[in-house]
Amino acid sequence: MHLRILGSAAGGRFPQWNCACGNCDFVRQNKFRGKPRTQAQLALSSDGSRWFLAGASPDLAFQIEATPELHPRALRDSPIAGVVLASADLDDVLGLLLLRELQPLRVYAAASILQILREENSMFAMLNRVEPQVAWNLMSDSVPFPLFDAQGADLDLCCEAVFLSGRYPRYVRSSGLAPEATAALFFEADSSQAGSKKRIAYAPAIEKLGDPLLSKIDGCDVLLLDGTFWSDDELIRVQGSGETAHQMGHIPVEESLRLLKNVRVGRRLYIHINNTNPILNEASPEHRAVLDAGWEVAEDNWHLEL
Ligand SMILES: [Zn+2]
Repeated sequence: MHLRILGSAAGGRFPQWNCACGNCDFVRQNKFRGKPRTQAQLALSSDGSRWFLAGASPDLAFQIEATPELHPRALRDSPIAGVVLASADLDDVLGLLLLRELQPLRVYAAASILQILREENSMFAMLNRVEPQVAWNLMSDSVPFPLFDAQGADLDLCCEAVFLSGRYPRYVRSSGLAPEATAALFFEADSSQAGSKKRIAYAPAIEKLGDPLLSKIDGCDVLLLDGTFWSDDELIRVQGSGETAHQMGHIPVEESLRLLKNVRVGRRLYIHINNTNPILNEASPEHRAVLDAGWEVAEDNWHLEL
C-alpha cells in the first residue's frame, strides 16, 4: 500500500493567514526550526496508479500539483478515483468543490454528511451537473467496504469508518442528526509481501480514546492521529480566551501520548497540527518528547510504502 501525506496542518494551515503567534511569526521571519504545512490531506493507493483521498482539504488543488502521481495522464483524466469523508467540516469538504471540473469520482460518507452536503448546501450540486460525475455512497458505522471508482472498478483498497461524535460544524442547520459527525478511518490493502495485509488508521479529529477504538488501533501498521493541540488550554494561553482542546473535539497530544503508550503500532504519527502547537518547533521540548516516545510529527509530502 502507498500512502502520501499531502498536508499535515490543522484548519488554517501553518502559518495561518491571520495569526502572528510565536510559531507563525517566526516562520514568516525564516527564524523557525520547523516547516510550513498545508491542511491535512492523505492519498492512498494499492497499486500506485489509482488513488483515493481521505478528506478533500481546502489546499487540495495545490497539493495535487505538488504530487506527480496525482497528475492527469491524458487530456482529461485523473488518477484520483474518489474521496472518503470523515466529517462535513470545511477542512474536509471544501476541496470537493475544487474537483468540480466534470471528472467522474466516487465519494463515500455517512448518511448525515451526504444529507448536509447534498440537501443543505446547493453549491455541491456543481458536482452533479453531468452524467457521469460524482457518485455518492453511504458508509455505515464499523462496516468495512471496498473502494470503487466512479465506473465501478475495484481499487483493491478496503475502508472502515468508526463513527466518533455528534459534533457537527456550526454551519449545519439540520437538527437531530445521528452521531456520525466525525469518524476514524481505517484503510487496508495487500502488502508487497504476498498474503499479508497492511492497515492504516487515520483519526485527525478525536475527542477521546476509549477502549473499543484503542483495540481497533492496536496492530495497525501506521497510525495518523489528531495532533491539533499539545495541551488542553493551548488556545486559551495563546489567545487569552477561547475553548479547550477537548471542547473543540480534540484530544491533546500530551494526553494521547500517555494513552497510546502500550498500543502496538508500526509507525505512529501526529497529523492535523494546529499552528499554535509547540511540537511544530523542532527545537522545543514538546517536539523532543514526542520523538522520545516513538512518535513522528507528520510533514507534507511524506511518502510511506507498506
Ligand atoms: Zn499562529
